[in-house]
Amino acid sequence: MQRWSRSKESVGQLFTNDLTASTIVISRATLLKARHASWSSVTFDPVEAMRQRQDLLQQGLYCIGLWHTHPEVAPVPSGTDEKLAADHAREAISVLNGLAFVIVGNRPFPNGWYVGFHDIVRFHKANLLSSR
Ligand SMILES: [Zn+2]
Repeated sequence: MQRWSRSKESVGQLFTNDLTASTIVISRATLLKARHASWSSVTFDPVEAMRQRQDLLQQGLYCIGLWHTHPEVAPVPSGTDEKLAADHAREAISVLNGLAFVIVGNRPFPNGWYVGFHDIVRFHKANLLSSR
């Protein structure tokens, strides 16, 4: 979460240890070194991301998506996010029907988060339920 106006965005990948279960559990969320991070945009090194995927695959973890932060109360994907998600969804199409895409905003889950899936064509926003 970006708590301060001078905070920079953070970014990472989402992994699961079972791609075939009826409920996919995110077993690990990693951090990537942000490149050109600023208040409202972030990019990462695709080589580092690929290396991380290969390392975690050795532990039986499959990458199913990306997460990053937005300095917003109710985050929505930007145009850059749309392109990023579509590119990664396209790369993963042989194993994933959709790329998980999470944006952590300035408020707690569920209202302060965006959770969706990109199927190459568009985002499908998840309906989030509070556990309370
Ligand atoms: Zn974004």
